[in-house]
Amino acid sequence: MKDCIFCKIVEGIIPSTKYYEDEHCYAFSDANPMAPIHILIVPKKHVASLADLEQIDDAALAACLRAAEKIAQKLGVKDGYRLASNCGKNAHQSVQHLHFHLLAGEKLSPKMG
Ligand code: 5GP
Ligand code: ZN
Repeated sequence: MKDCIFCKIVEGIIPSTKYYEDEHCYAFSDANPMAPIHILIVPKKHVASLADLEQIDDAALAACLRAAEKIAQKLGVKDGYRLASNCGKNAHQSVQHLHFHLLAGEKLSPKMG
């Protein structure tokens, strides 16, 4: 999609540090990391958020979720990680291309809100 930062990252128009890629999804470092490991996992096909249920391809969704564990294993993540997706205004979603934050590398805040 035109003017979508994450589409441009997937297409390689905007450079990124890649951690994982398959036919459905792409994973790269967050530009403003909130933890020692902060990776964004996105479907290659543009969809704005989890709210666009009918537009999300099940295979792409599964690939994003599976990618998190694959990346964690590849990076030797110990003691767990958090996978989160901000959906809409109340969750402060700032980029309107579905993405999952993979956070790890330290004891994360117990607060989710
Ligand atoms: P949200 O607030 O929508 O859940 O998360 C968007 C995330 O995208 C933020 O953590 C922000 O740091 C990250 N981000 C925004 N623009 C860019 C960019 O151009 N490159 C990368 N790598 N991350 C970005
Ligand atoms: Zn997009």
